[in-house]
Amino acid sequence: MDVTTLSPIALGFLGSLAAGSLTAVGAIPALFGRLPSRATRDLSLGFAAGVMLAASFFSLIIPALDAAELRYDNGAVVPALVCVAILLGMGAVALMNERLPHEHFRTGREGPEAASLRRVWLFIIAITIHNFPEGLAVGVGFGSGGYENGLPLAIGIGLQNAPEGLAVAVSLLGEGYTRRGAWGIAALTGMVEPVGGLIGAGVITLSEPLLPWGLAFAAGAMLYVISHEIIPETHRNGHQNRATLGLAIGLVLMLFLDIWLG
Ligand SMILES: [Zn+2]
Repeated sequence: MDVTTLSPIALGFLGSLAAGSLTAVGAIPALFGRLPSRATRDLSLGFAAGVMLAASFFSLIIPALDAAELRYDNGAVVPALVCVAILLGMGAVALMNERLPHEHFRTGREGPEAASLRRVWLFIIAITIHNFPEGLAVGVGFGSGGYENGLPLAIGIGLQNAPEGLAVAVSLLGEGYTRRGAWGIAALTGMVEPVGGLIGAGVITLSEPLLPWGLAFAAGAMLYVISHEIIPETHRNGHQNRATLGLAIGLVLMLFLDIWLG
């Protein structure tokens, strides 16, 4: 089968499904045998932050500016639209972070244990929430520019999903979840991506004016999670140097992929 002949919507769905599945693949060490050390995990999660940072700008914000420029010729409208959409994306995740978790913990354990369990679940919810815009981004990538446009994004997002999946599984193991339970929950966090992918590709195919908004909104949502969850998580155990090294590698790799394949 020649994938380049598929419809943009089918491509968006399959691309985001493949990227999302790498969350489960990345979490496999939680199922069997030895886990990578905390330092290695902080390095790889730093890598995820770097990929997401570069993807936000090169695969989302710059294409959003280009798309806005095609529609509006006023110089200030273009960046203003993109800035507003980024802030809306950040605000949406902030709001979800505020609202979603609380119910889960009211009936849970109490005392210091509850605090640590709560932190783990906040992290998991944040990962799940940000997987949606990642899927959206992959879907929008395929939906707006076909195969060439979506592929670097699907690869980059897929790569950074692996350490995220592992981070989720490992934090659940630390809370006493079984290996299979931890892996299963980590895998589930990735399955939000094809949902986002389908919606992203569908909306963009149906409504072109939404394109710059969708791209910049997805970027904002990712930027919020990078700053609020991923980077702090990599700095909690004294491995700041490794975390920053990982971020640098992820950033330049995604930049390279995006320019080379895109
Ligand atoms: Zn991510």
